[in-house]
Amino acid sequence: MRFATKAIHVGQEPDPTTGATIVPIYQTSTYTQLRVGEHKGFDYSRTINPTRLALERQLASLENAEYGTAFASGMAATDAVLSVLSAGDHAVVSDDIYGGTYRLFSRVLQRHGLEFTYVDMSDLEAVRAAVRPATKLFWIETPSNPLLKLIDIRAIAALRDAGQIVVVDNTFATPYFQQPLALGAEVVVHSTTKYIGGHSDVVGGVALTSNRELYEAIKFAQNAMGGVPGPQDAWLTMRGAKTLAVRMREHERNARAIAEFLESRADVVRVHYPGLASHPQHELAKRQMTGFGGMLSCVLAGPPQRALEFAGSLRYFSLAESLGGVESLISHPARMTHGSIPPADRERRGINDGLLRLSVGIEDIDDLLEDLRRGLDAVPVTADSWDSVRP
Ligand SMILES: *Cc1c(COP(=O)(O)O)cnc(C)c1O
Repeated sequence: MRFATKAIHVGQEPDPTTGATIVPIYQTSTYTQLRVGEHKGFDYSRTINPTRLALERQLASLENAEYGTAFASGMAATDAVLSVLSAGDHAVVSDDIYGGTYRLFSRVLQRHGLEFTYVDMSDLEAVRAAVRPATKLFWIETPSNPLLKLIDIRAIAALRDAGQIVVVDNTFATPYFQQPLALGAEVVVHSTTKYIGGHSDVVGGVALTSNRELYEAIKFAQNAMGGVPGPQDAWLTMRGAKTLAVRMREHERNARAIAEFLESRADVVRVHYPGLASHPQHELAKRQMTGFGGMLSCVLAGPPQRALEFAGSLRYFSLAESLGGVESLISHPARMTHGSIPPADRERRGINDGLLRLSVGIEDIDDLLEDLRRGLDAVPVTADSWDSVRP
């Protein structure tokens, strides 16, 4: 079965009790047992719920994984995956990660005795140098947020020397464009809040793997820690995921056109999009991904204030955090999504105050281009401020 078919059929068999074509929302916390211990496989909804199970099967099939475990948020999924480590264990983490992931690692899990080293994982020597005897896990986000840097998943998987686990946060690329398990990773994590849900109306997360032992450990954490999605949220996510293939094709087509438009403007200093020939890792993107996704970021010419004014002036790009919905969004990472990273760290990672991130939606491309053109023209670069940013 191929991708678009799996999205619509796996886990979506007619309901066994009524024949309902669409998986029902099983809004129940508990299940009546016939005799003590004798039930239909369902005992308590933190442990197992038929709506959630349908979502887990659907999403596992999209990543070509054997097992899926759904969570109340992407962060709950990340936390559950990290719970397979113990105090004293060490993880090597890409340095350009989602701000909330950095916050969880540096402000919660580090206090619990885990150790993290953040490196530019596009530099394989730096990754090798960061590995210690206690290293148990590599955490990869590719393409990264917000700079759209790529990490060679296959190369990281190949440099392991002691069976460390490779985890990929595949939220940006989605399984439609990137299949990390086939490239050697053990676990894929998603914030399903983004492209998988796809409509900015539900928060969720998922962890996917084909490794039985890791699945058991993550499943144990799901039940023991309890970060599960309710049946309504599971159902909304499942409905969204059915159209992932069509949406991703449109997101990409629009993003590509916008990246080319921005690159053609003299008043835009830089565009980060893996689909552009100018992207330093364009060749890796072509090798590792089957498409380049709907996210891009750019640095406008002129002072940071110009970027802020532009971002607030657009008609179709809502100034908002998050990404991956059908509607276009624009954000200012330094002040919004990455605000929890200390300024010095942020600057070192290239997230400067002039950077804008676009989540390109699936509106009509001509409306989006008109909006961006109008917005840029409304904040012209003055001669002196121009000099301050042009190389
Ligand atoms: C949003 C996001 C997360 C966190 O997911 P939530 O659903 O908000 O908890 C993790 N990783 C990436 C790349 C994200 O964009």
